[in-house]
Amino acid sequence: MTDLVPVLSATWGSEQSWSLDTYTDAGGYAPLKKALGMEPGDLIQAVKDSGLRGRGGAGFPTGMKWGFLPPDDGGPRYLVVNADESEPGTCKDIPTMMSAPHALIEGVIITSFAIGCNHAFIYLRGEVVHVYRRLLQAVREAYEAGHLGKDIHGSGFDLDVTVHAGAGAYICGEETALLDSLEGRRGQPRLKPPFPAVAGLYARPTVVNNVESVASVPAIVDKGVEWFTAMGTERSKGMGLFSLSGHVTRPGQYEAPLGITLRELLELAGGIREGHELKFWTPGGSSTPIFTQDHLDTPLDYESVGAAGSMLGTRALQLFDDTTCVVRAVTRWTEFYKHESCGKCTPCREGTYWLTQILKRIEAGRGTEADIQQLLDTCDSIAGRSFCALGDGATSSIISSVTLFREEYEAHVEQGGCPFDHAASALFD
Ligand code: NAD
Ligand code: SF4
Repeated sequence: MTDLVPVLSATWGSEQSWSLDTYTDAGGYAPLKKALGMEPGDLIQAVKDSGLRGRGGAGFPTGMKWGFLPPDDGGPRYLVVNADESEPGTCKDIPTMMSAPHALIEGVIITSFAIGCNHAFIYLRGEVVHVYRRLLQAVREAYEAGHLGKDIHGSGFDLDVTVHAGAGAYICGEETALLDSLEGRRGQPRLKPPFPAVAGLYARPTVVNNVESVASVPAIVDKGVEWFTAMGTERSKGMGLFSLSGHVTRPGQYEAPLGITLRELLELAGGIREGHELKFWTPGGSSTPIFTQDHLDTPLDYESVGAAGSMLGTRALQLFDDTTCVVRAVTRWTEFYKHESCGKCTPCREGTYWLTQILKRIEAGRGTEADIQQLLDTCDSIAGRSFCALGDGATSSIISSVTLFREEYEAHVEQGGCPFDHAASALFD
């Protein structure tokens, strides 16, 4: 059995784990002092060599992204932390910020020093007011301790950090919509290229990194590249937070090397709730194609999950047992995407509406066999034809569930309703 690797989560169980004192007592901010004594270029190289890949879902190499910034032209360049965690099932950044906000702030300072940024932003999902307050308190503590502000620890490096709370739109997790929102505009995706690395916030070079990616940087500086690369698989290095939710005995965050399997995670999490069997699950949130029991031994790394037909995404493992109606679960997710579609492009704006209409019809027992094909045709009109990844993501669970559980869709049509007792599932009202 693979052991857990508590790095980001190492202090979460400590008393007042969020305070500067607790973080410092556990060795926090020593990596910052080490980093300030290094050349920025060497820091970028270290993160490149570590193989750290973006933990926000796409898995783009973090050091490479930093390296994309054009040469210094004397103007500002920015770090923007994407803390707009909103993907259904995804719940790793919020506990990180609640339990160890200084890990993020230390990562922000080291990253900013590496890329030559003097003003960093943390863009937080609007609804989580408690996280906003915690971050504000931690930023204030960091200023008072001299970790932020002018001439940090005598290095000559200046950094200010602004925490910005959005208004709670899922699309603002898409990095360019996030930048528009931060600039005070309606959050809608921009055309890429140019990527933010070239023209981002206020059209200046900008690195947009996820909370977990940035929070992983101090440990890499502290423990070294070899320590990090010793964990994980050949192309998916290091550790990550795996979020288990749904029909599992002990739901929560499990920090483990990439490449761990769901079978191993379930051993740590007490298995599927007693008396039941796993039916289907998402490896990386609701925008990734679903898996079944057949994938219990699929290593949870970018390559293996991709080869098995899904995506590692945000490592949000939502587990559903044999009491769950897959049509109902998929309908719920699709309603979410319809609600969150920003409306900029027709395939997603109109398509997600039609997907929910068809799914609700089938789920309520008013669907026909032709509706199942209509569902797939509508997905075909959205996937690959939408402006941003939201459109594609909205179709993933539908296409994969019809492929894996077509008989369940047909049962709804033939029996004129849902064959499941929803109370037994206890996940949906
Ligand atoms: P993407 O692959 O388009 O981009 C990933 C990152 O790499 C971006 O920062 C992008 O700017 C950068 N990049 C890619 N090519 C580049 C290039 N040539 N030059 C410079 N930079 C480049 O993916 P995306 O649309 O940003 O993200 C999609 C992922 O987001 C999905 O896989 C999903 O898992 C995840 N997601 C996460 C949440 C959440 O709550 N955390 C919500 C929705 C989706
Ligand atoms: Fe907006 Fe959806 Fe189009 Fe993305 S795919 S731009 S969310 S309408």
